[in-house]
Amino acid sequence: MKPTQTQPTERPPLIWLNIFIFSFSMLLAVVAAPIYGYFNGYGMEHWIWLAICFSFCNLSITTGYHRLWSHKAFEAHSSLRFLFALGGAFALQNSALHWSSDHRVHHKHVDNNDKDPYSAKRGFWYSHIGWMLRNYKTAATDDYANCRDLKKDKVLMWQHKYYVPLALIMNFGVPIGLGIIHGDVIGMLLIVGAVRLVLNHHTTFFINSLAHIWGSQPFTDKNTARDNGILAFLTFGEGYHNFHHIFENDYRNGIYWWQYDPTKWVIKLSSWFGLATKLRVTPQARIEKAEASMLLKVTQEKIMHRADKQQISEKLQLEFDALVSNMNEYYAVKKQLLESKREDVVKKYEHSLLKVRYQQIKMNFEQQKKNWVMTVEQYA
Ligand SMILES: [Zn+2]
Ligand SMILES: [Zn+2]
Repeated sequence: MKPTQTQPTERPPLIWLNIFIFSFSMLLAVVAAPIYGYFNGYGMEHWIWLAICFSFCNLSITTGYHRLWSHKAFEAHSSLRFLFALGGAFALQNSALHWSSDHRVHHKHVDNNDKDPYSAKRGFWYSHIGWMLRNYKTAATDDYANCRDLKKDKVLMWQHKYYVPLALIMNFGVPIGLGIIHGDVIGMLLIVGAVRLVLNHHTTFFINSLAHIWGSQPFTDKNTARDNGILAFLTFGEGYHNFHHIFENDYRNGIYWWQYDPTKWVIKLSSWFGLATKLRVTPQARIEKAEASMLLKVTQEKIMHRADKQQISEKLQLEFDALVSNMNEYYAVKKQLLESKREDVVKKYEHSLLKVRYQQIKMNFEQQKKNWVMTVEQYA
C-alpha cells in the first residue's frame, strides 16, 4: 500500500504586475540611475524636482488617502481633493477608494492574520510588501462595502474610474515633461520617475511594517502599533502610529507641537485658507488618560518581582485615581470657562468667579501630575 502523500499547503497565486512594478522600478533606481549619473551627471534641477515630487506624492497619500478619505479626520475643498487624487496616482498605490477600503479593514482587524490585509504579526516582509505580491484575498473587495460614504465623493470616484490612465500620465508624463523643459528626458525619468517612486513606495510601506515593530507604545499595547520619531521624519508624520491606532479620527498623529508631523501642518495651514474644515481632535482628557493608564500598566508590571508589590501597587493606584479625578475636573471647568467667555457680558461676574476656580483647579491638577510622575519614576 502506498503511503499517503501530504499535499503541500497551496500558496495564493502571484500577482505578476505588482512584482514587475516593484522590481523593475527598484532595478532602475539602484542600478540604472547611478550608472546614468556616472556618465552624464545630474544637475540641481533633478534633485529639486525629486524633492518636490516625492513630497507631493507622499503628502497626497498621508493627507488625502489616509487622514481625509480613510479616516474622515477633516473635510477638504474639491481643489485639494483633486490634487490628492493626482498625487495618489503619481505615488502608484492604487485608487484612493481601494486604498481606503484596505486601510479601514486594517484598523478594524489590526494584527488579525486572517483579516488584516497587512498584519504585522505575519512578519516584516509580509506587512511591508509581501501582502501585495500574492492574491491573499484579505485585501479590499470589489464592492468596497466599507467605503459607502466615499462613493459620494465625485473627485474620488473620478480617480477610481480613470486610475490607470492617471497613473500612467503622472508617472511618465510628469518626468518626460520635466525632461523636455530641462533637456534631459532619460535623467528625469530615472530620478523623478524611478528613484522617486521607490522612495515613495518604501517610506509609505514602512508605516505598515516598521511602525508596527519598532518604537514605543505610550498610549496602548492592545495592538502592535508604535510611536517612532525617526519613522515620523521619513513618513511626513505618520510614524506616531501608536497614537493613531487608538485615536484614528484625529487629524493629528503627532499631537505635541514638537512632534514632526508635516501632514498635520498641511491640514492646519489649509484650514486657514478655508480649504480644510471640520478638523477632528480627540479631547485632551482622553489622550492624557490613555497615556497615564499605559504608564500605570507598565509600572505595575515592573514592580511584579518585588516583595512589597502589593503596597506599591496600591500607592500607584491611589495616585492614578487622584490624577484622573483632577484631570476630569480640570477639563470640565476649562470647557465651562470657554463656553462662558462666549456668553453675554452681563455674566461677567460669574465668569471671573469661574476663572478663579479654574486657576485653583489647574494648580491642583499640575501638582497631582508632578506627584504622579514622581511616584512612577521611583519604580521605573
Ligand atoms: Zn497600522
Ligand atoms: Zn490609519
